[in-house]
Amino acid sequence: MLLIECPNCGPRDETEFHYGGQAHVAYPEDPYALTDKEWAEYLFYRDNTRGLYAERWSHSLGCRKWFNAVRDTVTYEITTVYPMGQPCPVDLRTGERIRTAADSGSDAEAGGGSGGSSNSADTTIESEVGR
Ligand SMILES: [Zn+2]
Repeated sequence: MLLIECPNCGPRDETEFHYGGQAHVAYPEDPYALTDKEWAEYLFYRDNTRGLYAERWSHSLGCRKWFNAVRDTVTYEITTVYPMGQPCPVDLRTGERIRTAADSGSDAEAGGGSGGSSNSADTTIESEVGR
C-alpha cells in the first residue's frame, strides 16, 4: 500500500488518488500544424522510465486537486511532491534537487568554476515554430 503525500491534505492512502500520467507534457502550440504522426505522438507516446519519473496525480477522493509527484518506478517511492504549473524541482537522471530562485533569492544560477569554459549551453532550449 502506497502512502501519498497530498500537498493540501497530508499523507493519504493511495486508493484516494487517481494517476494522471506523465507530467510536463505540453499541449502543442498549434495543434493544426502537426502531422498525424506528431499528433499521435503527443497523444499516446510517453517516456517509459526506469527510475525517477515525474507524474500527475489527483486527490480525487479528498480535496480533488491535481499535483505533480516524482516517483521511482523501481521502488514506487514518491520522493517529491510539487504544485501543478511548476517545473520539476528534481533532476530526474540524478535525483538531485535543482536549485530554484525560491531557494536562494535571485541567485538562481550557480556559477561554474573560476577560469573554466564550462558553458552549459546544452541546457538551453530553443523553440522556433512554423517558419
Ligand atoms: Zn488532498
